[in-house]
Amino acid sequence: MHTSLVAALDIGGTKIAGALVDGDGDLLLRAQRPTPAEGDAETVMGAVSAVLDDLAASPLWPGVVAVGIGSAGPVDRSAGTVSPVNVPGWRGFPLVERVSRAVGGLPVDLVGDGVAVTAAEHWRGAARGFGNALCMVVSTGVGGGLVLDGRLHTGPTGNAGHIGHISVDLDGDLCPCGARGCVERIASGPNIARRALEQGWTPGRDGDATAAAVAAAARAGDPVAIASFERAAQALAAGIAATATLADLDIAVIGGGVAGAGEVLFDPLRRSLRDYAALSFVRRLTIAPARMGTDAGLVGAAAAALLGRRPERTPA
Ligand SMILES: [Zn+2]
Repeated sequence: MHTSLVAALDIGGTKIAGALVDGDGDLLLRAQRPTPAEGDAETVMGAVSAVLDDLAASPLWPGVVAVGIGSAGPVDRSAGTVSPVNVPGWRGFPLVERVSRAVGGLPVDLVGDGVAVTAAEHWRGAARGFGNALCMVVSTGVGGGLVLDGRLHTGPTGNAGHIGHISVDLDGDLCPCGARGCVERIASGPNIARRALEQGWTPGRDGDATAAAVAAAARAGDPVAIASFERAAQALAAGIAATATLADLDIAVIGGGVAGAGEVLFDPLRRSLRDYAALSFVRRLTIAPARMGTDAGLVGAAAAALLGRRPERTPA
């Protein structure tokens, strides 16, 4: 069975990555193109086709039995369509049908990128061995996914676990999604940086005003930078506690660029969780940093495709 491979695609607003992945989750071959994010639908599809052509040129390709796609959302898993916020040329684009045609009718499975990362962390990463997990990506946006009763929970549209747009501040700032006080509106990297700047933090001589620069300032003791991360941690804690209270979780795994801030984020996050995770069954929740790094989307897309073929559980 070791000859069975999956072709994985990770589609984001800046790049389209592809890989051939084996049954252990190891990446055997990679391909990549920049996303022509401002292009029309066929231009973007052309970049996907180029990645698939690179993979199909490999002598390993005849071992491919399925294709897994993790895409920036929103996606519609049941319809097989994608409408990535940062790729305006794709609205309701029939990605599953087009990829299936390009690969000679192999089965194709589609999930949102947060669900893909969750599949990867459950298969090979920090959520491995846990039956009930929330995995989050905190970066430009805040995404996530769920493992419930040992199985990846995609939801019918492939967007389940989208914790970034849970409201944790009822009268809070308007979020681009249309709601108010969303986790993402408070805890994403750009919002951490915006809040620090609004409250008087000034970037260093290099002019770097990203959340990573705010994290460096926080580590150096800047009180405004520390406060901005504490506010982000508070929003994350409230969202995680709400999810854990609903779903009775064992672990919350947090990755993405903002999680790279390390204890600047995780220390106030653990403290805030004590405030919001009040019930005894929620207090048992473990918080852990993600382990899968930048390959999480590809490994997770492969896991989703394998799940489609073995629907009873995450591949192990
Ligand atoms: Zn929102």
